[in-house]
Amino acid sequence: MTSSCGKSSSGTVLLGNSWFLSVTWKFLSHCFLLFFQMDFYTLIQMHLKWLSYLPRIKPFYAVKCNSTETVLRTLNALGTGFDCASKGEISQVLSLGVKPENIIYAHTTKPQSHIKYACAQGVNLMTFDDEEELRKVSRCHPKAKLVLRIAVDDSSSFYRLSSKFGAGLNSTGRLLECAAELGLEVVGVSFHIGSKCTQSLAFRQAIADARSVFDTAKLLGFQFSLLDIGGGFSGIDFSEVINGALDEYFPFESGVQVIAEPGWYYAESPFTLAANVIAKRLIMEDMRKEGVPERLMMYYLNDGVYGSLNFLLRDVQVSPYLHRQAVESSEKRYRSVIWGPTCDCIDKIVDNYLIPELHVGDWLLIDNIGAYGISMSTEFNGFKRSNIYSVVTNETWHTLKLSHLSFASSCEMYSPFHCMYSKLLL
Ligand code: PLP
Repeated sequence: MTSSCGKSSSGTVLLGNSWFLSVTWKFLSHCFLLFFQMDFYTLIQMHLKWLSYLPRIKPFYAVKCNSTETVLRTLNALGTGFDCASKGEISQVLSLGVKPENIIYAHTTKPQSHIKYACAQGVNLMTFDDEEELRKVSRCHPKAKLVLRIAVDDSSSFYRLSSKFGAGLNSTGRLLECAAELGLEVVGVSFHIGSKCTQSLAFRQAIADARSVFDTAKLLGFQFSLLDIGGGFSGIDFSEVINGALDEYFPFESGVQVIAEPGWYYAESPFTLAANVIAKRLIMEDMRKEGVPERLMMYYLNDGVYGSLNFLLRDVQVSPYLHRQAVESSEKRYRSVIWGPTCDCIDKIVDNYLIPELHVGDWLLIDNIGAYGISMSTEFNGFKRSNIYSVVTNETWHTLKLSHLSFASSCEMYSPFHCMYSKLLL
């Protein structure tokens, strides 16, 4: 460990001011063979961007996307709420000190025992999309504040959710009548545009659809006060369209509180995976180029599709890159296949990848890898999950401590910084 690098007892690594990766490298790569680096600065930047581009919308971070404790603690300290999908997630965030009123139980098909748990913990906000669910809620949590999830056009999203969840617009009136008969309180509407949405206009249409449900509800005697625009944010590029649609259909004066359930947005960019080449094979293929058999390089990493790269099974692609500095453009490149460590042949990371020759022990890095992969990883074949190390530069650390002093009196949102760092350092 260099003199400019220290480690708190919580596992947060404090770094010197140079490019953090090269500094952390000395420390982490000597201690471990496979790890994630979680960059605090990026996580905080994402939140500050959210506040400045979508100021009307309170984010309820989707815990399922990445439930790493440091992420949850940081976001709690920054003032976000949390979208939980189960008793387990609710219990995890409550144990970190999250208040029940900052949780939405955003799953429309809940086990009864989980609804009872939410009730016992004072978690009242929850979604539904069906009469059967309403009956369950009336038995298990009659004082719940319900949010009607509608199905929306998710055709421009990579992961489409509306085939599984969400009431059709033509059934919302019937569902609201059923809720009224059961004496349940419905407070608003939610939707999810699908993950990795590529068309901002999809949000506009979904917000317009939600408006029509608000109007139906008013006719039926409900006073809706909450709009939940779900997740699906691939960046902040959608902010203009979303803000415009909110101004048109739910102007500020309407008094409607707007929340969202971003997962990908927060968790993707702070994480970098560092995996090690554990084995290598050279295949001489019959295909000849100028009379010489083609070389195919096969590399085996210690993480793969059964570990944190499981999203590769859904047609996503990654481009691992070598940790060593500056690969010369003149360096010879070979057709290569990179495999995961397990004995299964679908455990393939990249095919036909043109890269310089690698050696056993080399490190490959993959950026922007914090969304879902870690949550969904398994220990198939006995390969352990990667450790996660949070890093922050000394400079950021001190700036944030100072920020606490200058912002604390003027802005409630920033005041928890101090408490965040105290908590993290415990
Ligand atoms: N809310 C709900 C109900 C979800 O099902 C999901 C993802 O599946 C999210 C929020 C998070 O979505 P994203 O990661 O696309 O922002």
